[in-house]
Amino acid sequence: MSKCCSNPDAEIKNTNPCSPQTPSCCSETVEGADKPEALAWFDQMIPNALAYVKKQKAAGKKVVGILCEYTPRELIMAAGGVPVCLCGGSAETIASAEEHLPANLCPLIKSTYGYSLENANPFLELMDLVVAETTCDGKKKMYEMMAEIHPMHVLELPQKPDDADAFEHWVKELEKLKVVMEAQFDTIISDDALRDSITTMNEERRLRRELASLMKDCTPPLSGLELLDLKSVVSGIPDDLSKYREILETITGRQITPEVSARVRVLLTGVPLPHGAERVLRIIEESGGLVVAQENCTGLKPIMEDIDVASPDPLRAMAEKYFHLPCSVMTSNTARMDLIKQLAIDYKADCVIEITWMACITYDVESRLVKKMVEDERNLPYLRIETDYSPSDSARIAMRIEALFETVKSRHSSSCTGQNNGCCN
Ligand code: SF4
Ligand code: SF4
Repeated sequence: MSKCCSNPDAEIKNTNPCSPQTPSCCSETVEGADKPEALAWFDQMIPNALAYVKKQKAAGKKVVGILCEYTPRELIMAAGGVPVCLCGGSAETIASAEEHLPANLCPLIKSTYGYSLENANPFLELMDLVVAETTCDGKKKMYEMMAEIHPMHVLELPQKPDDADAFEHWVKELEKLKVVMEAQFDTIISDDALRDSITTMNEERRLRRELASLMKDCTPPLSGLELLDLKSVVSGIPDDLSKYREILETITGRQITPEVSARVRVLLTGVPLPHGAERVLRIIEESGGLVVAQENCTGLKPIMEDIDVASPDPLRAMAEKYFHLPCSVMTSNTARMDLIKQLAIDYKADCVIEITWMACITYDVESRLVKKMVEDERNLPYLRIETDYSPSDSARIAMRIEALFETVKSRHSSSCTGQNNGCCN
């Protein structure tokens, strides 16, 4: 049973654990009066993606699960595979996961493992291989248990990206993955196949960047929640790319309600918000905010950089793009601060809200640096929210967000000279 995001007394039955339902009480967020057909296509994201994956599997393609934005989808696609994100965003599967895992663990890890244990994710039934990676300790150890259920290969990420040998190590790890997939899928991954998949993914990233850029406008045609909904668990679906183009061609001038220019523009940072775990974003937008930029891994971070398709060594070029991803599991991780700073300027943020999942040590520790940078260098109010997938703290979160927005509004009423490079209010 799920609870309403801001009304924990209202319960809903979740009938499909792969596609957690949105309680009707939570759907009254910032929305358009109308929803164009291309945008509504993504309301069915999970069924659409599942139908696509089943069709690809029937045509002989391999289905490969991924659990992190460091895993290059291009390499999987070049091996004749379909990459599917398996990150769990549902509270429903956590109880069973806690029979094996400590309760004091990140909900994303527990939810993902719970889906696997309960056999509740229809994508998992189709899986030929899961590619995992050594990011945080909780994930690494959970993978050992998940590997008892599903065939798995673990990429070893360098931990110190500034070390001279770190990049070469990463290239070797991707070469190892290439060999593993060639052997398991009985194929050869050619440079041409890699270039084809790089072209597809570059195009997907370009379109998603353009869609995100719409939020730079003082009256953007999308809410932050609608933008997040455009991210599919499966990349490179041709129909999705067509819908992205259609949205870009037709969305200009769309009015979202309530009056968007009066809303507090929020830059969201911190942990990823997998499908089903959008609760805090929804509360922000129900409380008078508009999430104009999402720095996290379900937002802009993984799509900021493309891969040089003309490189004579496409695997190396691909390795470079992923090596630059500024995740808190790296030490040090200064590029993330630079990205947040730039996004705050480009998207005219009024404040920064950081979400950390309970027991996510790396983002939690790094939040101190984010707060300091945001307050000292951008002169913007900052709020850190630590939570999990349970709605029990929704009312408290809403109160803290409303207090933050009062601070922003009182600053605006005295002057609109924040360092946010222009001001929409
Ligand atoms: S936040 Fe870090 S560990 Fe999580 S998906 Fe992104 S890169 Fe991977
Ligand atoms: S949110 Fe933090 S603890 Fe959870 S999987 Fe990502 S890095 Fe690990």
